[in-house]
Amino acid sequence: MSDRTYELDRRHVFHSWSAQANLDPMVITKAAGSYVWDGQGNRLLDFTSQLVYTNLGHQHPRIVKAIQEQAATLCTVAPAYANSARSEAARLIASHTPGDLDRIFFTNGGADANEHAIRMARLHTGRHKVLSTYRSYHGGTQLAVNVTGDPRRWPNDNGSAGTVHFFGPFLYRSAFSASTEEEERDRALAHLEQVITLEGPGTIAAIMLESIPGTAGIMIPPPGYLQGVRELCDRHGITLIADEVMAGFGRAGKWFAIEHADVVPDLLTFAKGVNSGYVPLGGVAISDPIYRTFADRPYPGGLTYSGHPLACAAAVATIETMEDEGIVEHAAALGDDVLGPGLRELAAKHEWIGEVRGTGVFWALELVSDRATREPLAPYGGSSPQLAAIVAGCQRRGLLPFTNFNRVHVVPPLTITPDEAREGLEILDQTLTEVAGKVPSVNC
Ligand code: PLP
Repeated sequence: MSDRTYELDRRHVFHSWSAQANLDPMVITKAAGSYVWDGQGNRLLDFTSQLVYTNLGHQHPRIVKAIQEQAATLCTVAPAYANSARSEAARLIASHTPGDLDRIFFTNGGADANEHAIRMARLHTGRHKVLSTYRSYHGGTQLAVNVTGDPRRWPNDNGSAGTVHFFGPFLYRSAFSASTEEEERDRALAHLEQVITLEGPGTIAAIMLESIPGTAGIMIPPPGYLQGVRELCDRHGITLIADEVMAGFGRAGKWFAIEHADVVPDLLTFAKGVNSGYVPLGGVAISDPIYRTFADRPYPGGLTYSGHPLACAAAVATIETMEDEGIVEHAAALGDDVLGPGLRELAAKHEWIGEVRGTGVFWALELVSDRATREPLAPYGGSSPQLAAIVAGCQRRGLLPFTNFNRVHVVPPLTITPDEAREGLEILDQTLTEVAGKVPSVNC
């Protein structure tokens, strides 16, 4: 069975972001909670939440049941009609978004949520430019990938009219030669202010930021940075769009990561964790002033599946489970008590962990070949034999790791137990020890 799955995949499936010819995809045959099973029947602890979205783990019975019940009642209905799953999902999301972000436009995922947020900001302000950071990811569609600040933009960088990139704060690899969090914050804000001045404040519709940049490295902004960005936006009439596609819905130990900074954006985009990714869903939470722009003037945008009942039923079950089971508190405690301390212990032991950073169930290890120079263990945009060996070693020991360039991200489901989390850290520890002993170019 899994042999045929593999064979058909190789013959007919065209995969994302990849050179197709030499792909060797792992077949996944089943999944439960924090684990998946491969085609050979091996069980692996999922330290990836797939693409950082199965926040409540695999096959959560309440979400599965909600989808089954919705399928039996009303599988689908066009966006113009009201239906209970969509209404209730919108209410629940609005009950957790900060401030006045109380109107929800549903999309199919994160990229189109960001596209629509930018469209709303452009129409609301009458301006066209969008500022976003290097070291960010906002999605794979044309505008979203042009706003993105990672190498996936490079081959797609031909629709970038009006997109401008700036440096966000990242003390470990400071673009501002800063040596403290305060310096990094102040210099990053001064840099952004200059970019705004030089681009022309009257041309800038929006600043789009991941509240905590995710795929780019889980860089927690220094205290005061997001407040500073909010203040710059207010001063210049710029819309602040918080991309919470990865960091939202409990991942960062709060319902939304921007709550760490106590800032209310004008638009907030979400996807992934909103329904643990069981059925594709994303959306934009809209503040009152932007809602009012479209109160009497049509919003020129829409999708066939906006607020699809199956996806919304999964969102209702996900959010209710998160509320009932204290999942956000659990995520915060996992970060404080298990993942943070456990990863710092690993760093004390393995010289080639240059930095540990994160919060909640959202952590990154920055791997370096030299702690003093911070030389990354794989080049920006690339991989290395060491990183490949880490992936292989973890998988052999029963752990599915998330790696990106020179980093290992620790992003299991929010429902992982402390013992399961420790089991994963133990496998990482063993693998790092093994790889350091075997790969000659590790110079630590
Ligand atoms: N924004 C962020 C922060 C993301 O991490 C992602 C996906 O990883 C996206 C947007 C795009 O979401 P999607 O792949 O659902 O379009």
